[in-house]
Amino acid sequence: METNKPKLTIRNLHKRFGELQILRGVNFEVYSQEVIVIIGPSGSGKSTLLRCINGLEGINDGQIFIDEAAIEYTPASLQKVRQRIGMVFQSYNLFPHLTVMENLLLAPLKVQNKTKAEVLPRAEELLKQVGMSDKADSYPSQLSGGQQQRVAIARSLVMNPEVILFDEVTSALDPERVRDVLDVMKALAHTGTTMIIVTHEMGFGRDVGDRIIFMDQGVIVEQGPPEQIFGNPQEERTRQFLRNVM
Ligand code: ADP
Ligand code: MG
Repeated sequence: METNKPKLTIRNLHKRFGELQILRGVNFEVYSQEVIVIIGPSGSGKSTLLRCINGLEGINDGQIFIDEAAIEYTPASLQKVRQRIGMVFQSYNLFPHLTVMENLLLAPLKVQNKTKAEVLPRAEELLKQVGMSDKADSYPSQLSGGQQQRVAIARSLVMNPEVILFDEVTSALDPERVRDVLDVMKALAHTGTTMIIVTHEMGFGRDVGDRIIFMDQGVIVEQGPPEQIFGNPQEERTRQFLRNVM
């Protein structure tokens, strides 16, 4: 196997909010085309970790490298980081006054200074990929939660990010809408998109994850292939968590 360098390196990451120590030395790497699934109890720092990785939060200690370069905390550098690392949230955060297509075009036109003619074919292709072609001219309020979330995924892809972070993107959806969104993510995973997925959908995580990370209280307790984490966890804390959620 050719030696391949990590796309992302998280090294000794510490994050505090005031006196609260949220991340207490998190270390892992993500390789190109890898799908990392992060599981763990509520409050363990999963969302904070994702927000640190795409530069939405500053950090107190440690480093985050994209390829071999440490993220620098200047506005210009952070803007580049957010173009290279996309993020999809539980609350879809679409702009309500813009149509689906306008939501997709906004960042490429405003942030990347591209022309509409340059971006439109890719935007149309992505809407097709997430099964939303027929809703290009609809407004977010006219769509179901699952449809809005699929648009949000397409919107993040239109920037051609090198890594996409998903933070519990199905948690706010009606159960019958969850599957459509998970299917879109699964198809993305199969096309070699590098992804970090925080989810409570254990079956889905086991299915798509190349590697599972179990976090608790701001540290990685255990990580490994899905068969290990779900089938033969090494740590008592992991076993206890899985007993409660499965
Ligand atoms: P998870 O996503 O695993 O549920 P979070 O990263 O959202 O965990 O939160 C971890 C801890 O950090 C929680 O105790 C939460 O209350 C706290 N926290 C998150 N964001 C902030 C913030 N902006 N200010 C203060 N505390 C925060
Ligand atoms: Mg969270």
